[in-house]
Amino acid sequence: MNSKIVILAGDGIGPEIMDSGLTVLAAIKAQCSHEFTIEKQPFGGAGIDDAGASLPEATLAACQTADAILLGAIGGPKWEKMTDTPEKGLLALRKALNLFANIRPVSVSSALLHLSPLKPEIIEGTDLIIVRELSSGIYFGEPRELGETMAFDTARYQKSEIKRILHAAFTIAQGRSKKVTSVDKANVLASSKLWRATAEEVAKDYPDCQLEHQYVDSAAMKLIQNPKAFDVIVTENLFGDILSDEASVLPGSLGVLPSASHSSDGPSLYEPIHGSAPDIAGKGIANPISMILSVAMMLRQSFQEEAAAAAIEAACDTVLKQGVFTSDLGGQASTTEFTDAVVKELTKK
Ligand code: ATP
Ligand code: MG
Repeated sequence: MNSKIVILAGDGIGPEIMDSGLTVLAAIKAQCSHEFTIEKQPFGGAGIDDAGASLPEATLAACQTADAILLGAIGGPKWEKMTDTPEKGLLALRKALNLFANIRPVSVSSALLHLSPLKPEIIEGTDLIIVRELSSGIYFGEPRELGETMAFDTARYQKSEIKRILHAAFTIAQGRSKKVTSVDKANVLASSKLWRATAEEVAKDYPDCQLEHQYVDSAAMKLIQNPKAFDVIVTENLFGDILSDEASVLPGSLGVLPSASHSSDGPSLYEPIHGSAPDIAGKGIANPISMILSVAMMLRQSFQEEAAAAAIEAACDTVLKQGVFTSDLGGQASTTEFTDAVVKELTKK
């Protein structure tokens, strides 16, 4: 089967870490049942510079016919004051592809426990996934008003929107420890009451999985107190925004965390959670793990290449245990040194 992957390397460290991701993909492709065609397209600041728009028409068209999309990172001081900005391009792409489910796994290698702001015994063994609803809720709900002495927003959810994100969460949970924690504020909010009832309903389709409910205030606390109590967390847009940023500091560096965004039927987009890191761009020292693990997520979730994904994850962990660290992890390895070490592990006989 031949599948098209569109590559949006973007700006700053984006192209550097994308090179790493593609090098690792090339190293694992012999172990995959799919064949991959790679198509590079300008996007973000690079789109503005090379094709006159943050999301050039040809880039969007390529993404719409892709089987999966890999994004490096976008943005930087150069484009901040323009009318068209890299960030606008990303929002437009998410909207055009109807990416409603944002998936952020957080796990910490035993080689990196010392970097976490939490005590090693608390962080050790943490392996959770936050599934955030990305297309609805209070960020989009109408009506809204900003007056002089009064303002309001509307936290609106359609049952169909809650259902599809819950299905996404349960599908992920089925491939893991089969536990879903649905986070809401159902003691106060109407939208959360519908959320909780709908979660119960969807759970009936997954009798092999366990569903628990937590209020968001309690979940925020437990994420710090005992992160390994969680497996798959599913929540609405606002709560997911906050909890996923909270969770992203647990491993001690942004450079190790991948993400995925899914729609109902179109291609998914995979990208590091961090930005374009202009402060270290061009130096060859960026940590490529976030991008390499995004490639692994793509292989697992878009192409069902579980063995290849697991091999990449294991290879990254092995290399960390060998003490190969980029500077954000307190080491001196360059981006390519780390990547080469991962490739060596993957191709070891
Ligand atoms: P955004 O672009 O989302 O607004 P930001 O500009 O606040 O985010 P990033 O670009 O993600 O932040 O960078 C934050 C800090 O983390 C910077 O000091 C950057 O160098 C560092 N950083 C981010 N990603 C990596 C990476 N892959 N390797 C090493 N350091 C990184
Ligand atoms: Mg940035």
